[in-house]
Amino acid sequence: MTILVTGGAGFIGTHTLVELDAADHSFVVVDNFSNSSQKALTAVEKITNKPICFFDVDVRNEEALQQIFENQAAAGRPITTVIHFAALKSVSESVSHAVRYYDNNIGGLLKLLGAMTKSNVNNIVFSSSATVYGDPEALPFEENHPVRPKNPYGHTKAMAEQILDDWAKQDKKNKAIALRYFNPIGAHPSGIIGEDPNGVPNNIFPYITRVALGHLPWLNIFGNDYSTVDGTGVRDYLHVVDLAKAHELSVRYLEKSSEGFFKAVNLGTGTGTSVFQLVQSFELQCGVSIPYQIATRRNGDVSSAWANPQLAKNLIGWTAKLSIADMCRDGWNWQYKNPRGYN
Ligand code: NAD
Ligand code: UDP
Repeated sequence: MTILVTGGAGFIGTHTLVELDAADHSFVVVDNFSNSSQKALTAVEKITNKPICFFDVDVRNEEALQQIFENQAAAGRPITTVIHFAALKSVSESVSHAVRYYDNNIGGLLKLLGAMTKSNVNNIVFSSSATVYGDPEALPFEENHPVRPKNPYGHTKAMAEQILDDWAKQDKKNKAIALRYFNPIGAHPSGIIGEDPNGVPNNIFPYITRVALGHLPWLNIFGNDYSTVDGTGVRDYLHVVDLAKAHELSVRYLEKSSEGFFKAVNLGTGTGTSVFQLVQSFELQCGVSIPYQIATRRNGDVSSAWANPQLAKNLIGWTAKLSIADMCRDGWNWQYKNPRGYN
């Protein structure tokens, strides 16, 4: 049994490859390297000590995907499950380039499902996001909270979930899990793989590590007047290694289930951390001070978001184990050792 990992060269993909390997799964990777580099896969090989079979292919190329499924089957290594990470992920860019986001994220999923259907591949783990919920009616977010995304990126995730739900209903062999990630941060403890965003990061954690390096002068904290513990925004940060392990457990769950289904599952720790708390923890763990300025609220930001992760525990046996301190230490270890990322 082989797993196809689309977007396997990205931040979460690389960490997942390491966990798949540790659990003795074989996999092949498809990535068009639009937001990553082959160097990330070379780095994974350093950890696993095995060569990675990868294809420089766009997931919107259905024929190429089908060829990969056929070749793997012919070689006696049929693909049984797909983990689909490949997508564009910037909220702000999705507003200015909405059609590109729908084309890549929805177009890519449709072509992938087309190739899977033709090749009788029935299992998929999909990267969804807590952003599908939009403004919270109540916290923590439960999976049955209304889905009301606030930007095109979030819409692509909500639409993809609907497509997968309908795909699961069209054939009772089809099984799909959409993992709604909260805020993955940190890096593999080896410091060999980690997050490597292009340009100035949008997300807080890589922004903090670049301030710590001295590449950026200070952190802008977007608002200190929210109704939260200290006025700054609250999120459910989870260690990317914990997140990666959830994919391995999801694969096992899909492969052992006999009936078709679609399920959306939250992945978070169940605990909220404010921006100030995250900065303080980083300073304490890493011994670096993070200068900051209070800036105005960022458009579209919710005040607080954290998960109820109970379903992940019940369904796939997953709970987050690593702490904010672990996330800060490992994320800084990666950034410090690789100040220019993979370059
Ligand atoms: P990433 O950008 O690091 O990885 C995505 C990978 O997909 C990249 O290697 C990119 O080159 C590849 N890719 C993009 N479009 C492609 C296409 N058409 N064909 C082939 N490859 C393509 O992102 P990530 O942080 O690893 O996120 C992985 C998934 O998780 C994405 O679907 C993202 O939307 C989702 N997600 C991420 C976060 C987060 O905070 N990182 C949170 C929620 C959900
Ligand atoms: N944030 C911030 N400064 C930054 C980036 C983010 O203060 O440079 C805040 C943001 O307002 C939010 C939290 O940090 O409260 C997490 O933001 P991020 O973009 O990482 O995740 P998301 O908002 O998508 O959950």
